[in-house]
Amino acid sequence: MDPLLLEKLKLPDLAPGWVWLVGAGPGDPGLITALGLRALAQADVILHDALADEALLALSDAEKIYAGKRAGVKSCKQDEISGLLVRLAREGKRVLRLKGGDPFVFGRGGEEAQALARAGVPFRIVPGITAGIGGLAYAGIPVTHRDTNHAVTFITGHGSDGKLTKLDWAAVSRGAPTLVLYMARKFAPEIAALLIAAGRGADEPAAIVSNAARPGQSVLRTTLSGLAQADDAQGAPSIIVIGENVRLADELSWLAAAP
Ligand code: SAH
Repeated sequence: MDPLLLEKLKLPDLAPGWVWLVGAGPGDPGLITALGLRALAQADVILHDALADEALLALSDAEKIYAGKRAGVKSCKQDEISGLLVRLAREGKRVLRLKGGDPFVFGRGGEEAQALARAGVPFRIVPGITAGIGGLAYAGIPVTHRDTNHAVTFITGHGSDGKLTKLDWAAVSRGAPTLVLYMARKFAPEIAALLIAAGRGADEPAAIVSNAARPGQSVLRTTLSGLAQADDAQGAPSIIVIGENVRLADELSWLAAAP
């Protein structure tokens, strides 16, 4: 990284005793923000999750602690992570909590920030590019487009109990023309059936974007009814997008042509 450039931006310092909750973006290390790079350069300790890019972590000499959560993998409990953030900050460390995508989008960043606020630990939120927007952009799918959708709904496929999200799926189906689903691979057949039962077209375009903005990105184009058959991508992080905007990828898939 060019330290001069970061100096010129007059960015704030990650000060001792502070925690920065930073979004790393969906994968491509180029998608982290300048504030995120600043935090990598200044942190004493980094708590990162499974989606954090190795190239980003390698930029920093800080102590690295894995505090990840992946579906089906035994991992840290949320209150242990929050407790660790508080303890490290109270030890006077400069603490970077690095999370995939945006820390406040389906990433429990809000819960961690609440724990810090309640403990009186000063913190900064550094937003990141969320997979459901930037990841789709890497698949050539604009999350909104005037010709296809004036609104979009972001949904998580399962709640903290690991079960299908309790939602009024009929209302969801009548809402925005485009639905973007995180953590929805496991329940894709159920979700597709609920949406079709509520009146969404079985032929509506859909896509499963896996490993978006990472090596091995794949885009599976299908339909709403086809989602029911799409088999699991062996744990690769995936965004499901349903709506007419998916068709725009015919014209806009740019990644294959990029150097
Ligand atoms: N805070 C993150 C989301 C965390 S939840 C964000 O803003 O992007 C984890 C889920 O995000 C995964 O199950 C998957 O649905 C999605 N996700 C994260 N990174 C992804 C990627 N590179 N490609 C596809 N989906 C991704």
